[in-house]
Amino acid sequence: MTNSAHAGAVLTIDLDAVAANWRLLRERAALSGAACAAVVKADAYGLGVARVAPTLWDAGCLTFFVATLDEGLELRALLPEAEIFLFNGAPPGCEPELAHHRLCPVLNSLRDVDAWSAAGGGPAALHVDTGMCRLGLPDSEALTLARAPGRLKGVRVTLLLSHLACAEEPDHPLNHAQLAAFRDWAGLLRLTGIRESLANSSGVFLGQGFHFHLVRPGAALYGVNPTPGRPNPMAPVVRLQARILQVRDVDTPQTVGYGATHRVQGRGRLATVPVGYADGYPRSLGNAGGGYFGDVRAPVVGRVSMDLITLDVSHLPEDQVRPGTMVDIIGPHNAVDRVAREAGTIGYEILTSLGTRHHRVYRGGGGRR
Ligand SMILES: *Cc1c(COP(=O)(O)O)cnc(C)c1O
Repeated sequence: MTNSAHAGAVLTIDLDAVAANWRLLRERAALSGAACAAVVKADAYGLGVARVAPTLWDAGCLTFFVATLDEGLELRALLPEAEIFLFNGAPPGCEPELAHHRLCPVLNSLRDVDAWSAAGGGPAALHVDTGMCRLGLPDSEALTLARAPGRLKGVRVTLLLSHLACAEEPDHPLNHAQLAAFRDWAGLLRLTGIRESLANSSGVFLGQGFHFHLVRPGAALYGVNPTPGRPNPMAPVVRLQARILQVRDVDTPQTVGYGATHRVQGRGRLATVPVGYADGYPRSLGNAGGGYFGDVRAPVVGRVSMDLITLDVSHLPEDQVRPGTMVDIIGPHNAVDRVAREAGTIGYEILTSLGTRHHRVYRGGGGRR
């Protein structure tokens, strides 16, 4: 953790907003009788699982998903009673370690099924692929399992899941094709006493038919808009403010930054800000991004350096832009999704790239359930 007095940038993470976002998703899921889990993989999308997971547990979340075994072990230490699934399953030979820590693997292939069964089994999720071609049993393996359910000897499947490829595009035909395929597999596999789960964040907003028993949002919890192109129903969670290092007046034509990609014409004022691509500010925001002083945008001029960017502040009053003045790098006017769009990426990548160089301030998160 960095020292606030030393910090060039402050990352504020609003845990109350995370909890409010989870409650909003839970309410939507509850309309169809579904429960709401939370995906906290990748250190809770970069925001710090050690603070985010207990906040969600206190809000009432009981079921969590992470990607890896190490993430599962970290989460188990934080939440001794939570139900925890590992999307990537058990690394070969680590089945006993999962069982010991009551971590449930997601079984993504017949090979995973056999390994979990051979290791003694226990609770697990079964993932059937319906259109990602990434993880999950392909049709041929799912069919084999449907015909030979004995392969699941000792395995207690508590959850059947699949993952949507295009959930953020409500009109994409793959959504309903995957929904139909998932229903088909649920019928063919005839697993009793299980829950079914298909929806990620955007899937929650595709309609109640996508909810099944459990929805598993990640990004929306952290303020990313699950309904791109429509107003964001989620509360913003992160704010990144940086302190101006240096301000300079320019009055002769000259170029700014590596590669001399921006040319100052005539009089102007530039502010140098200590955020760069090593801090998760994408290099693609060179000559494309912007900081905000209140509601006034100051465009990034020139390339993004490793530790610095340069903003054109010529149009701002001199007394509002001095060394030490804070500028919003991610904030009310340049929310995560907007920064992502300008960078040619998605909010997920902006969040998970934020890194550990900023001074972190957590707000709220004190409420017990
Ligand atoms: C990451 C992930 C999620 C969560 O997705 P979001 O779009 O962040 O809500 C759900 N399910 C699976 C299988 C995932 O890998």
